[in-house]
Amino acid sequence: MSRFFVSPDQVGANLITIEDRNDLHHMKKVLRLGPGDEVDISDGSAWEYRARIEYLEADMAQLQILDKQSFATEPATRVTLYQGIPKQGKMETIIQKCVELGVHRVVPVFMDRTVVVDKGNFQKKIDRWQKVSAEAVKQCRRGIIPEVSGAMRMKEVLADLAGSYDLILIPYENEDGTTIKDVLRSLPAKSGDAAAPETATLKPDAPVTIAVLIGPEGGFSEEEVAMVTGAGGRSVSLGRTTLRTETAGMAALAMIMYELEL
Ligand code: SAM
Repeated sequence: MSRFFVSPDQVGANLITIEDRNDLHHMKKVLRLGPGDEVDISDGSAWEYRARIEYLEADMAQLQILDKQSFATEPATRVTLYQGIPKQGKMETIIQKCVELGVHRVVPVFMDRTVVVDKGNFQKKIDRWQKVSAEAVKQCRRGIIPEVSGAMRMKEVLADLAGSYDLILIPYENEDGTTIKDVLRSLPAKSGDAAAPETATLKPDAPVTIAVLIGPEGGFSEEEVAMVTGAGGRSVSLGRTTLRTETAGMAALAMIMYELEL
């Protein structure tokens, strides 16, 4: 079943209106859909719908809502990946795979050992990466399109982290004591069980929010690790081997989802 994304203000009590020309073209010319055909619609924030096409033209479509449900595919755990910007081309792979694995937001970060420089055209890269996220969502049928935010520097990351997460993880290649499993198992149950460890104060029935920081090819500087752990982040090992930067975020996400979602 094809899936389309609309904004919540395009959803009425019984009807959904689509005016995005690309979507309308895809419906009419590529999928050859017409009145009577059914599609899945997501409002990108909370609900997904099964809807039947009542009217479909080049400039507008109207669909009758047949069924509405909260997202079946969205994880209750919201993971934000702060990814040390890697060399050419790897970011697309990181975003595509992490969207499939359930990432909630991706923040590209200029870290101390990032070799890529911003020559002033970085917004074009962010726009392209956002498209990669939207494409990945269609394939894996997520309910939301994970945001690829504007690039940050570490001091902006620290401000972004402050008070925003139940848990901050910094997978660090030189960490050989605490594993990600140790820390995840120290989290209380998602029900917001009162026995929260000092590093996480889960709100009952709210999604667990986790930040994961991954270094670029050159890894983290000692100063960066100190800043993040000083701000309450937990330095964790992802295992005995050194993973590539493009592998590490996926591995961390997979471990988090395995532990908290499956
Ligand atoms: N320059 C580092 C070295 O050669 O030892 C490698 C950095 S690694 C390519 C990039 C990032 O992946 C690291 O900064 C870290 O965030 C993560 N990473 C890779 N392997 C890891 C492991 N075994 N445990 C924790 N984090 C790891």
